[in-house]
Amino acid sequence: MNPQVVVIGGGISGLACAYRLWQLGVPVTLLEADERTGGLIGTVEQDGFLFETGPQSFQGTDSALDLVRELGLESDLCQADTRAPRYVMRHGHLQELPMSPQAVLRSSLLGMGARWKLASEALRRTRPPTEEESVAQFVRRKFGHEILEYLVAPFVSGVYAGDPEKLSLRAAFPPLDEWERTYGSVLRGAMKSRPPKGAGQGRPPLCSFHHGMAMLTRTMAAKLGESARLGARVDTVSGNDRAGSARYQINFIQNGHAETIEANAVVIATPAYTASHLVSTLSAPLARALSGIAYAGMAVVCAGYHANQIGTVMHGFGVLIPRSEKYRTLGIVWNSSLFPERSGDGRTTLTGMIGGATDPEIVEKRDEEILAVVLEEASRILAITGQPIVSRVWKHPKALPQYNLGHGHTVEMIRESERGIPGLYFAGNYLEGPSIGKCVDRGSQVAESARAYLRDAMAKSA
Ligand SMILES: Cc1cc2nc3c(=O)[nH]c(=O)nc-3n(C[C@H](O)[C@H](O)[C@H](O)COP(=O)(O)OP(=O)(O)OC[C@H]3O[C@@H](n4cnc5c(N)ncnc54)[C@H](O)[C@@H]3O)c2cc1C
Repeated sequence: MNPQVVVIGGGISGLACAYRLWQLGVPVTLLEADERTGGLIGTVEQDGFLFETGPQSFQGTDSALDLVRELGLESDLCQADTRAPRYVMRHGHLQELPMSPQAVLRSSLLGMGARWKLASEALRRTRPPTEEESVAQFVRRKFGHEILEYLVAPFVSGVYAGDPEKLSLRAAFPPLDEWERTYGSVLRGAMKSRPPKGAGQGRPPLCSFHHGMAMLTRTMAAKLGESARLGARVDTVSGNDRAGSARYQINFIQNGHAETIEANAVVIATPAYTASHLVSTLSAPLARALSGIAYAGMAVVCAGYHANQIGTVMHGFGVLIPRSEKYRTLGIVWNSSLFPERSGDGRTTLTGMIGGATDPEIVEKRDEEILAVVLEEASRILAITGQPIVSRVWKHPKALPQYNLGHGHTVEMIRESERGIPGLYFAGNYLEGPSIGKCVDRGSQVAESARAYLRDAMAKSA
């Protein structure tokens, strides 16, 4: 029997959507090109070390934690200490990242002028320009170059692997744009938007699982059972307006065999460049808009050491490295400090991130070259002696979509097309934010919309 909905792509976005449809009792089939689900999320165990091949953690927002509970994964959940420090490198030294206006004034990360500009921003009322601004333009205008270089640019690398000169403030950090528009100040906006006391205050904790991030995606896929078809690469999606017949034909290849399934609704949860190819026969303008979304490549380097090889006391999340410090590594996550219960006795795991929009050549290099760069830089930064017990590289040539200038228009166009082509939906990290939480939220919302559409269509035909 044909499913009512086909979800294409089994990363966290597609899984969240298919899982929600399954919960709602809607017959669904998920088609994933790879032999495993999870997409960018992957966990590998090697020689007693647990390595994450992509994301290292996720924010424990209310909706993410609800999902963890629904999946029965609470006992495997691990949460990082929200008070643990984060570091930024300046003049070759690790400096603690200030997390409050008072801490900014005391911090040695920034010069006195920059500290004062940041801490006193709430006293100055500004208006955003009418034309769309890049993140770099916004930060220079409001706070000056030092804050761009040592606070914002490293953060932007950490979230988007992006170039602040190209990223759109409005698309990449919508609250900042809105706070300036509404309150004339981002600090004032942030303070006004804080939840009332007692209503789940503070930043959500960073979370993972004792068995790694892949627990989330594996468990969702297991719930779907045979409805999740692996090694199934979709080639085309075509529409059909004939009365009484299913609206979409989805053509795919699995185990070398071409197959077609029909469905009343389709959710495309692949990266934008694949979505562009899949919708080319349904809407040429939509395909063009999707193909215009740029991606940045990244490599993830994981290394496991004996704890006594590390000369620096690693207590905290890790370190972000501004470009001006002349390292190639963008940041190093201290996995064993983030989730201490996960590291074996006397052992330490580190993960270096390298590449991004400001260093596109790195993913072209051979694994050994990437490994050599990151391990040598990590050794200098963290006073590491000797070689790791084990190390691995994972390259993601198109890791993350870039929310560059104009991205907001592209997303608006995708939404309009969604409204104009009944039963066609999009989920993925290029729509509402790249974080796992945003991908889950979007996937679930799309599932609800698809169910509502199917109900309406059924009511009309009755
Ligand atoms: C190095 C790195 C570190 C990150 N760190 C964090 C972090 O710490 N915290 C956080 O919240 N987020 C992090 N992110 C972001 C987050 O991991 C991603 O945005 C998210 O996992 C994307 O999920 P997705 O399902 O939208 O896309 P993907 O994971 O890319 O999934 C798309 C799926 O579609 C499948 N597919 C493609 N083409 C076809 C086809 N033709 N037919 C069928 N299937 C197809 C692919 O095989 C893939 O499985 C990180 C990302 C990277 C790259």
